[in-house]
Amino acid sequence: MMSDRKIMIRLMEHFMMASFSLMLLACNTGQDRLEWSLVLHGGAGTIKQENMTPEKEVAIRGDMQKALNQGKQILSQGGTALDAVEACIRILEDSPEFNAGKGAVFTETGTNELDASIMEGKTLNAGAVTGVQHIANPISLARAVMSNSPHVMLAGKGAEAFAKEQSIDSVGSEYFWTQHRWDQLKNKQASLKEKVGDKHGTVGVVALDRDGNLAAGTSTGGMTNKRFGRIGDSPIIGAGTYANNRTCAVSATGHGEYFMRLLIAHSVSAGMEYARHSLDVAAHDAIQGKLGGLGGTGGVIALDRSGHRVMEFNTAGMYRAWSDSQGDEGILFYGSLETVKP
Ligand code: ASP
Repeated sequence: MMSDRKIMIRLMEHFMMASFSLMLLACNTGQDRLEWSLVLHGGAGTIKQENMTPEKEVAIRGDMQKALNQGKQILSQGGTALDAVEACIRILEDSPEFNAGKGAVFTETGTNELDASIMEGKTLNAGAVTGVQHIANPISLARAVMSNSPHVMLAGKGAEAFAKEQSIDSVGSEYFWTQHRWDQLKNKQASLKEKVGDKHGTVGVVALDRDGNLAAGTSTGGMTNKRFGRIGDSPIIGAGTYANNRTCAVSATGHGEYFMRLLIAHSVSAGMEYARHSLDVAAHDAIQGKLGGLGGTGGVIALDRSGHRVMEFNTAGMYRAWSDSQGDEGILFYGSLETVKP
């Protein structure tokens, strides 16, 4: 027979064990996860304050804020990460300030060839389009490929024919003509002063919604003076875009030829899944280690499944903005001095 004292001690032990288990359970079920979280980028490259005019800064900030507001509205009202990613990217595609949609750069022959991709972390469903020339919002076409076709990627004429079937608007090629992109092409062709890979402007968004689902998307015109027919990393799942609810959502920007060979977006996820790295370590390793090691330039934005964000780059700057359910919000352009470690 146990004494009363021993019974009391046993009971207390059981109580403490139960409390400890509950605490562990609370951590594992991610109760500290943000309700929702959103990050967007507008490209990485030689983005320096001395090259920025006040008017340009206002225009770029304005469009980034507009995209953030749209994403916030969707996510705070319980909308899906996928909807937030598409809606934010559409706003950035409609802006002439970014190298996507309206502001897409020119190929060496003076045409515009646009790429985009989108991915959902819950199902690993993905859609992508490459080399489209008449689609104002390639991200919506990429989503349609994901949702309404048995394929992951459609190219050129086939993608545009599918757009027609899906009642996605097409535009004349003159829609993509902007003076500053034309000047960029001509300057580059004349002097080749601007090294390939110096200036980017691709757009991308990653989001976590209230249901705990992650999504990522990326849209671009590619690189100024690229050969016609060239495809970069942005429409390639695992290179420019990746989302997996088990790990993270990633959108990349930079010199595509490097991101493709290193499968940078997926390598962030793989670092978390296989090496058990945190998002910060996995993204740092991908950009500063792998990409930098091969001589590539650019960056990634990423969210893990608790909504923790990373904005990692090895260029002078990266247009980047974020917002989350705790009211943390910001827009940054330049390099390390103002780099935020959330
Ligand atoms: N990654 C894009 C490409 O290589 C360009 C960029 O992000 O600026 O097409």
